[in-house]
Amino acid sequence: GIRVSNTSSELRKRVLSGMRPTGKLHLGNYMGALYNWVRLQHEYECYFFVADWHALTTDYADPSKIKDNIQDVVLDFLAAGLDPEKSTLFIQSRVPAHAELHLAFSMITPLGWLERVPTYKDQQEQLKEKDLATYGFLGYPLLQSADILLYQPDFVPVGQDQVAHVELTREVARRFNQFYPSKTNPEVPILPEPKVLLTPSPKLPGLDGRKMSKSYGNTLGLSDPEPEIRKKIKGMVTDPARIRRTDVGNPEVCPVFDLHKVFSSAETQEKAREGCTTASIGCIECKGWLADAVVAELRPIQERRAYYEANPALVEEIITTGNEKAAARAAITMREVKTAMGLGE
Ligand code: SF4
Repeated sequence: GIRVSNTSSELRKRVLSGMRPTGKLHLGNYMGALYNWVRLQHEYECYFFVADWHALTTDYADPSKIKDNIQDVVLDFLAAGLDPEKSTLFIQSRVPAHAELHLAFSMITPLGWLERVPTYKDQQEQLKEKDLATYGFLGYPLLQSADILLYQPDFVPVGQDQVAHVELTREVARRFNQFYPSKTNPEVPILPEPKVLLTPSPKLPGLDGRKMSKSYGNTLGLSDPEPEIRKKIKGMVTDPARIRRTDVGNPEVCPVFDLHKVFSSAETQEKAREGCTTASIGCIECKGWLADAVVAELRPIQERRAYYEANPALVEEIITTGNEKAAARAAITMREVKTAMGLGE
């Protein structure tokens, strides 16, 4: 048997989050999600998954990269330090209950709720080259609600900019609970409304000073080798007013300094600020200190990645075990859901 915990016997609060497989991660992705998840696993009962069905909501016409991307996310999870002994790591599509609960929710969700999700129209505008006038794309926030509520979590860790996404999930839970009180205990809702767990998501600037994003091609990759990291940082834009070495600079308008704030020690930050505002250091020196800090942050991540890359059978086993644990926990919810909806055995 697979051991699973339920709300009554487990003291730790449960947390769940997922990530779309979109290729190798960059530092911005890492700081916004994985960095926080690694810290949560010491305190919460954690479920983290690769949202592969979600990749198909936008990339259904060309799934050729999905398989490799799934593998990359799994490796990134492990490389970042998610510990399979502490967290349940799994792949969404391998737990069929995600699709089943999504279908159940689709019966009760008013179309208007999905049509007014802001990303629905935005993404259709932004991804004009793809035909997103599909049932699956409209329904992806509902699939997200199913992903979450399937595990009856206490919290969903999100950054400030995603707080609104959890609201739909809470509305769906409320509506479900109104229609379908539990047969065994009508006082306790089957799908408790999860709360938002606000996690820090620093806005990392990319090499050109715009937000770090794969679509801008301005990223520092989690898997970039040290020489590449150093070269990229050397080429970063700085305070545009600091033209000559003798000009003083303003760290507050410099993307290099924004990254110092995230990755460098307080002493290094102070040294850089002091040196910049008195023109006693050059930007090359300042960038060298930043590169040292970024390289130090990435080293353990890259070492773990190399270890797991060299041990594919181990990775396979971790995910198979995670899939089984997640499926067993999901089955608890699905039994209650189906019984309440009149589909029980
Ligand atoms: Fe930016 Fe550092 Fe140059 Fe100042 S010294 S402008 S903080 S890179």
